[in-house]
Amino acid sequence: MDFAFNPEQELLRQTLADFAARELAPQYMARDNDADLPREVVRQLGELGLCAPMVDSRHGGQALDYVALGIAHEEIARADFNAAYVLLLTALVGAIVAAHGDDGQRSAFLPPICRGEVVPALGVTQPAGGSDAAHVKLAARREGDSYILDGEKTSISFASWADTALVMARTGALDQGAHGVSAFYVDLRSPGVSRNRFKDLGSRAIGRGQLFFDGVRVPAQARVGGEGAGFVQVMQGFDFSRSLIGLMCIGAAQQSVEETCKYVVDRQAFGGSLARFEGVSFPLAEAAVKLRAARLLCYEALWLKDRGQPHGWIAAGAKWWAPELAAQVLHQCLLLHGHLGFSMDLPHQQRMRDVIGLEIGDGTAQIMKLLVARALLGNVARGY
Ligand SMILES: Cc1cc2nc3c(=O)[nH]c(=O)nc-3n(C[C@H](O)[C@H](O)[C@H](O)COP(=O)(O)OP(=O)(O)OC[C@H]3O[C@@H](n4cnc5c(N)ncnc54)[C@H](O)[C@@H]3O)c2cc1C
Repeated sequence: MDFAFNPEQELLRQTLADFAARELAPQYMARDNDADLPREVVRQLGELGLCAPMVDSRHGGQALDYVALGIAHEEIARADFNAAYVLLLTALVGAIVAAHGDDGQRSAFLPPICRGEVVPALGVTQPAGGSDAAHVKLAARREGDSYILDGEKTSISFASWADTALVMARTGALDQGAHGVSAFYVDLRSPGVSRNRFKDLGSRAIGRGQLFFDGVRVPAQARVGGEGAGFVQVMQGFDFSRSLIGLMCIGAAQQSVEETCKYVVDRQAFGGSLARFEGVSFPLAEAAVKLRAARLLCYEALWLKDRGQPHGWIAAGAKWWAPELAAQVLHQCLLLHGHLGFSMDLPHQQRMRDVIGLEIGDGTAQIMKLLVARALLGNVARGY
């Protein structure tokens, strides 16, 4: 067993930690307050090779391993949780196109994503319910060399400003379930596309919202993978992205734990440092141990992914546990700052609000536990 990052991974971690603390952290809260993640930030992340870096170099990527991708998510999220969404969405859409697109699609779609010039969204969730993700209703009707898209996607990260979206649409009958769903890489400037933005509790910089498709004509070449194969492709992608989300949340919580340790050591009360009291130090000790364990779970799933070994239930467990734990830890850090923690000037509230979003996004704790239970107990634990 080897728990250490290799020298390249360690160098990446240190480089990104320095970059993120210097370039991203100072404006994290201001960007969220303005509900704006400037293109300049996306371009910087692209220049650093952080957008879909696992893609091979022929298509603009770095052929980076998945553990290194996890390191990037953790370090960027420590400084700016919402900037890390750029890494998450580019990795997810990039991985699906790289794995299931044809050579023409890879050459056309991937390089601009990897350079940070094109921001892609992923359109899975329907207004009728996200947990039952296979129940896609948005219709794609074949018409000659095109498909015509009609319907709505909701709760989509970057919906209000993304350039493109990988959209799950129904090409088969509703009773075909997941097998009647295809994936289309859609230019969101196409006629018939409209969008809006939600007023969110946190992560306002990502501009989550709805995408409406009103008779949108998409060339047949924009269908990624076989007809009816789209849903299965995305679900394979989610396996690894769940660990990335876990690491984003852990990065944010770990940053607050470190800041809180410093604060309670410095804060003087009852004739000495607040850190003398177990009521203050034990919550931080518990947080440090639990975060470390959850972090290992996330990295184990990515390590297995790098070795081509099954990691589905471990990644699902990481997606359930890490965001929930991070939200609890951040709440505790906020409280340990006393009245100052309640102020919008400190980052703990920001991180807590942001992390809560990913307790829901990409599948809730209940759905993740269903996946773990199915792996343990088989289909008897399907839950429906
Ligand atoms: C910050 C954020 C970013 C997001 N980004 C994207 C994105 O980029 N693309 C995208 O497609 N979607 C995105 N989503 C949507 C997200 O994936 C869905 O919100 C999520 O899957 C849950 O679906 P729902 O909101 O419709 O809740 P519902 O499915 O209606 O569930 C409501 C509640 O019931 C519970 N529940 C549902 N079914 C079961 C069951 N069988 N057993 C037990 N409990 C159950 C759920 O856990 C939840 O607590 C995002 C959401 C958020 C908050």
